[in-house]
Amino acid sequence: MPQAPDPLPTPAEGGFYPMVFPIDTDPDNYHYSDTWGACRSGCNRGHLGVDILTNGVKGYPVVAVADGTITWTADPCCALAISHDDGWKSYYIHLNNDTQNPDGSYSDDGAQWYLPGIYDGAHIERGQVIGLVGDSGNAEWVTPHLHFELWAPVDLDADNWRDTHQAINPTPHAAAVDGIPLDPEEGERPCAPGVCAPFGLVELAVEQKGATVDQFRLEPIRLQLRGNRRLLQGVLRITCL
Ligand SMILES: [Zn+2]
Repeated sequence: MPQAPDPLPTPAEGGFYPMVFPIDTDPDNYHYSDTWGACRSGCNRGHLGVDILTNGVKGYPVVAVADGTITWTADPCCALAISHDDGWKSYYIHLNNDTQNPDGSYSDDGAQWYLPGIYDGAHIERGQVIGLVGDSGNAEWVTPHLHFELWAPVDLDADNWRDTHQAINPTPHAAAVDGIPLDPEEGERPCAPGVCAPFGLVELAVEQKGATVDQFRLEPIRLQLRGNRRLLQGVLRITCL
């Protein structure tokens, strides 16, 4: 039976869980903020993890933060949990399930998500690729991101899995191993200027000669622009302010 670290490291005590960052790519390619406990599903539940956004890009490698065994995989798609050898647990949600096209884009076909060697019961090493950043599950039509959770062991002998572990705010632990740590004042790990659109203000520019936009409707991912009583086939440019 794996033993929990004693005492549990807590950020308040200056301790951080010894992990690697769950996405293996240049720090310029992602950003996140501390949304622990934030409203989800109409405030029927609080956010139990950290959402690491990848500037609209799918496919960055998601890696195991510690050695462990895959003890849960979502059916039919596309998430998994790793029970660490030290008794902790981590969850990785919204893994990519879309086929990559030859030009690098993704088809949104939801065809498959398991990488070779990734299955329920597989032992995984810290830093091993377990999936790719995607928009599966309830992130479909939302920007690609990894929802990452970190659960501390409470009573590993408990019968109910809900009693064996307790979710903790993973944000400061992830930030501790990130190349660009969280801003302690803002609780944000900002994106690199000009390369992405964070939540909030965006600047829209439509390029179409002889037309003006007099109405727009923002849907979960599709932006429809109408001008001169017709749908504009413009270029949408989103700039980080
Ligand atoms: Zn999330």
